[in-house]
This record gives sequence, structure tokens and C-alpha cells, in this order.
Amino acid sequence: MMKIDVLTLFPGMFEAVLGDSIIGRAAEKGLLHLQYTNIRDFSLDKHKRVDDYPYGAGGGMVMAPQPIYTAYQHLTEGLEEKPHVIYLSPQGKVFTQERAKALASNYSHLILLCGHYEGVDERIIEEIVDEEISIGDYVLTGGEIPAMAVIDAVARMIPGVVQHANAESESLENGLLEYPQYTRPPEFLGRKVPDVLLSGHHAEIVKWRHQKSLERTAKKRPDLLAPKAE
Ligand code: SAM
Repeated sequence: MMKIDVLTLFPGMFEAVLGDSIIGRAAEKGLLHLQYTNIRDFSLDKHKRVDDYPYGAGGGMVMAPQPIYTAYQHLTEGLEEKPHVIYLSPQGKVFTQERAKALASNYSHLILLCGHYEGVDERIIEEIVDEEISIGDYVLTGGEIPAMAVIDAVARMIPGVVQHANAESESLENGLLEYPQYTRPPEFLGRKVPDVLLSGHHAEIVKWRHQKSLERTAKKRPDLLAPKAE
């Protein structure tokens, strides 16, 4: 079973989004244990403050180290192995399907740290963070949406979470985008499902799908076909 702890100022955001559907069912089935910890509960400040002004001036506020560190200690107390700690950050390595798969297979316990304001005090990153992950080259107001994206992508990689006969062909799994998908009816708004898919000829269908995968990858994401820079 995979355990994912989230350190956040807004646990309610997660319950609302991840409590239903496939991820909610995975948790119910015991394939995934999700736990949301409110950093504010661990603030030793009498007003439960979690942020403070940055040294050296500059705008905005910074998440103070004490509440995050105490919350982290609470989560890791008595554990034999340090969980893999991820800080969601626009400065991290951009998240990929490959990384989602590696996280699901290499770790049984993740802690996702969500920043807010101008981010977290640098000493937290130095002390507890093993990896920084970005979900793209843009800046969001908080790490909660990125953390949900990571949880969803990692959870799909846990055996039994998604009932899937053909996970191999999923977009990006094999470096290509998936072929076009159709369901009933055979004709809709005058547009017909390609004959080959109705033919029942398995080998021809496999060939057609591979060809379509290549064509649409070349068209929509030519960067995926380009040789990777070292
Ligand atoms: N001042 C920070 C910087 O320039 O690197 C940005 C802080 S951002 C406004 C607030 C928080 O949102 C970050 O601490 C991070 O947790 C989260 N965040 C924003 N954009 C993100 C992205 N693209 N990927 C992952 N997390 C992001």
C-alpha cells in the first residue's frame, strides 16, 4: 500500500477533489492511504501564524520554518525509514509520466509539501526536502493544485487503481500520444467511425492505431519525437 501525506494550509481543498471518483475508490479499497495535515495546527505562535516577512525586504510573505518542521516531525516520529519528501515548486523539475511511474514504484511513503505566498523558508528545503517538482512553467498561488496533480498521476500507476487492459498505449507511456478513441454510435453528426475499427481485424487495428499515434504525435507534440538532449 502506498501512503501519501500532504502538508498544507488548506486540507479541505484535497478532500473536496480527491475524495470522489477513482482516487477516492482507491483509498476505500486500501490501495492508497491519503492523509492531509494542516501545517497551521503545529504553529507554536499564540495566533497560530504560519508566515512572516522576508529578511532583506521584498514583497510578500514567507512560510516560516517552525510550523512546517514540527508538522514534519509529527508525521515521521518513530518511522524507521525517512519518507521521500517532495516540495511542489515552480523551481522544481517539470513533472512527467515517467516520474509519476518512478515515484509509484520506488517509494511506499511520500510527503508532499505545499507552499503558499512567496514559498517556504529555504532552510526547510535544505533540511527535509528530497526533491522539488513543478507541474509546468507558470506560477500558481499555492502547491495544492500541483500536489493533487502529482497524487492523481502517481495513484494511477499503483496496480489495481485503474482497470486498464491497454495501459501501454496511453499517451506518453511509450513516448507517443494515444490513437483516436471512438465509442457508439458508429455515425455521429455525419462523422463515421473509421471502418478498420469496425472490421474486427485485430492486426489491422493495431497497425492503424500505431500509425495514428505516430501521426498525431508528429502533429501535436513533435518535441516527443525529437532526439533527447543529454
Ligand atoms: N516565490 C516563488 C518563486 O518565485 O519560486 C513562487 C511562490 S508561489 C506564488 C507559491 C507556492 O505555489 C509555491 O511555494 C509552490 O508550492 C506553489 N507553486 C506555484 N507554482 C507552481 C508550479 N508551477 N509547480 C509546483 N508548485 C507551484
